[in-house]
Amino acid sequence: MPAQVYRDMLDVMVKRGGPYSGADIPEFYSLMEELFTPEEAQINNGLPRQPVTAAEVATQTGRDEGEIRALLEGMADKGLCSTFVQGQQRVYQSVPFMPGLFEFQFMSGRVTERYRKIANLIYAYKKAYEAAKGTPKPGFPLTRVITVDRKIRAGNRIHTYDQVATYIDKYGTIGVGTCFCRHAAQLRGEDIHGMPLDVCMWFGEKAEYAVERLGSRKVSKKEALEVLNRAEEAGLLHMSRNTTEEIDFLCNCDRWHCDVVTQILKHPKPGLVFNSGFRPNLDSERCTGCGVCIDRCPPGALKMGEGNVPALDQDRCFGCAVCASGCAEEAIAMEARPDWPEPPKTVKDLITAIKAAR
Ligand code: SF4
Ligand code: SF4
Repeated sequence: MPAQVYRDMLDVMVKRGGPYSGADIPEFYSLMEELFTPEEAQINNGLPRQPVTAAEVATQTGRDEGEIRALLEGMADKGLCSTFVQGQQRVYQSVPFMPGLFEFQFMSGRVTERYRKIANLIYAYKKAYEAAKGTPKPGFPLTRVITVDRKIRAGNRIHTYDQVATYIDKYGTIGVGTCFCRHAAQLRGEDIHGMPLDVCMWFGEKAEYAVERLGSRKVSKKEALEVLNRAEEAGLLHMSRNTTEEIDFLCNCDRWHCDVVTQILKHPKPGLVFNSGFRPNLDSERCTGCGVCIDRCPPGALKMGEGNVPALDQDRCFGCAVCASGCAEEAIAMEARPDWPEPPKTVKDLITAIKAAR
């Protein structure tokens, strides 16, 4: 029987939302007991969504400010809450399970027995969660694909939010860390077939936290663009939060290990819930029928069609342009999907859209 503080944690994590937020199953408690000491669990349960100072937590709990600060600092170092400087003050913020706790455990890329144990506990929890509650249903999408904008056909309207470089320009601090999904797979003993690991990006306050505490490295805008190119060459797709004005991360994902992509691929029409708003247009005159685009396509949306030219299943297509960036003949250009809705502007708008879709 788990201690009451971990049972309370179940309600807290479910309220924070996101995929696999919590379930009353032994695997949830085994994981949380490994991640949080009982004292840390108690602090976690009282942390609000908004950033707070150690002094505010001390007042709320009636405890000594120095003790609380030390606890929060230790939790931030372990990826159990985030921290950054707001104005002149250091603040701490609660995190959901995903995106949050899960990702923060593996961003450093460290390999230790404890991280192996956590990777296996998370895997076991997610499997047990699916067995108990079914695969989390895709509601209003939390994340979106960002296409490779240099592959967009000339003449198409390109919003700034369709261009990854917009975010690289916008944020003062950019951090690059280890891909948590592929690293977690490696910790579980899986082969990641040489795909790059150091390609996950954080922006702004989250980048400051990732660089200061979680072993990410701060990069210049030029280096950030090089990371994107490396990810594109490796056939990884760009994914971020489904907002246009505030993004805090940009992942470069594969179809075998990424938690979001593997979950979306269980949907019969994955392209309808996870999309950039673009689709590929193939020039049959240029196409040599080499099949590279078919092999690279993450959701298997391309199959060889008539005349040895790949045919598209639009319901499966993410609009990621991984096909286009791999085509040596430049036979694929991305074009806007008609009537594709504009993503929410801010996180607040996204939360409203998610609630409305329930
Ligand atoms: S990669 Fe290019 S040339 Fe090869 S099949 Fe696809 S579209 Fe045709
Ligand atoms: S066909 Fe495949 S690789 Fe090309 S944009 Fe669609 S999902 Fe991406």
